[in-house]
Amino acid sequence: MKYWNPYLETLPEETLSNIELSHFRNILSHAKTHSVLYQEKLKGIEPDNITTLDDIKNIPMTDKEELRKYQEIAPFPYGGTLGTPIENVTTFRQTSGTTGKPVYVPESYESWQWRIEVWCHILYMAGFRPHHRVFLPFGYNVYVAFWEGHYASEKLGCEVIPGGALDTKGRIHKIIEIKANAMMNTPTYGLHIAEEAKNMGIDPAKLKIERMLCAGEPMPTATRKRLEELYHCHVFDHIGGTEPCAWAGMCEAKEGMHIIEPFFLVEILDRETLQKEVKEGDIGVAVVTPLGRRSFPLIRFNTKDLVVKGKSSCSCGRTSQKIEEVVGRIDDLRKIRGVLFSPKTVEEVIRQQFQEVEEFEIVVERKGLMDLILLRAEVDPQLPLESIEKMKVRLGESLKIATNLSFIVIMEPPGSLPRYTLKAKRFKDLREEAK
Ligand SMILES: [Zn+2]
Repeated sequence: MKYWNPYLETLPEETLSNIELSHFRNILSHAKTHSVLYQEKLKGIEPDNITTLDDIKNIPMTDKEELRKYQEIAPFPYGGTLGTPIENVTTFRQTSGTTGKPVYVPESYESWQWRIEVWCHILYMAGFRPHHRVFLPFGYNVYVAFWEGHYASEKLGCEVIPGGALDTKGRIHKIIEIKANAMMNTPTYGLHIAEEAKNMGIDPAKLKIERMLCAGEPMPTATRKRLEELYHCHVFDHIGGTEPCAWAGMCEAKEGMHIIEPFFLVEILDRETLQKEVKEGDIGVAVVTPLGRRSFPLIRFNTKDLVVKGKSSCSCGRTSQKIEEVVGRIDDLRKIRGVLFSPKTVEEVIRQQFQEVEEFEIVVERKGLMDLILLRAEVDPQLPLESIEKMKVRLGESLKIATNLSFIVIMEPPGSLPRYTLKAKRFKDLREEAK
């Protein structure tokens, strides 16, 4: 079978839009009736007056800050964000809290199953099938993505091996021992497992992983291809977040990602005004409404993810709208010496042209009136000093071409930069911390 849900995945665009509009009215009406946040926020907005996708643009958006604020009221810990009586909640998850106080996400059994179904679409699209033995190299704790991946793999008929409570070496031994042939991990940790395997004298390709789904960080194409080379496997990306759920995934064509329609209504809006939908090929902010989840309703959630709007046709035959690329988090974009800078560009350059670089970190700081950008790069210790010096020069030149900014490149000895299993923090803007 080519699709997880052959009916939904091949519906004409117009039918998908009509379904989404009708589901949007339903979730709006549910949110207005059941959640304190939306009772207050949506006063005067009548679901029945929403008759076109343009009408939706007049409804206020929701952001993380607002969710935090409404979680301070009763009932603890979900407060006014709850869309169901608290007795119905069966699943507690939360955001990582990297940008402030965590947001707690309550799911009823029904809403949790909705999230699992969405993930089935994502995994099936990435070629996960019943013969896969899926290894998850994490302790999932209270973080949602790997739990969803776990339960959705089971629903697909795969066999799932949870890999928590082991260090990286232990995980590599486990993959070999039980002959796992699929994995889900952050791109950074995928690279780290490969590096560690090499240190143990094991070629990562010999781990015989066939499929890898990456999560947790924006992944440049060069990083995805690097993982494919290292493991000799197919690597897929997806995008999502704890609050809205994963909402787009990559198919076998590996050209952008399909929005999981009609489970979500996704708007890609001009980043300055947040009003107009951008054109195909342009960058915009993704504003996402999950359409079937009632315990934690979100109306027009501003994900702050910047994406490039793609086509609505694909060689795989799916008819859903695509996004061409994930650019990064709007919060990670910086003005440096008047130039707009995205840390993802640096990763793209390094993974594509400097495979000897094992790990890196970008630090922006202010010296007097001048902004300085430091790139600390950790390289393979086997390399002769002379070629490290040459690489340093080439790295500076390539970064200058790609970003229009000058970098101070510092070569670091192996093991001096931190390694990450979940979200990597390779970008530090010390100008803000100094404020
Ligand atoms: Zn496709």
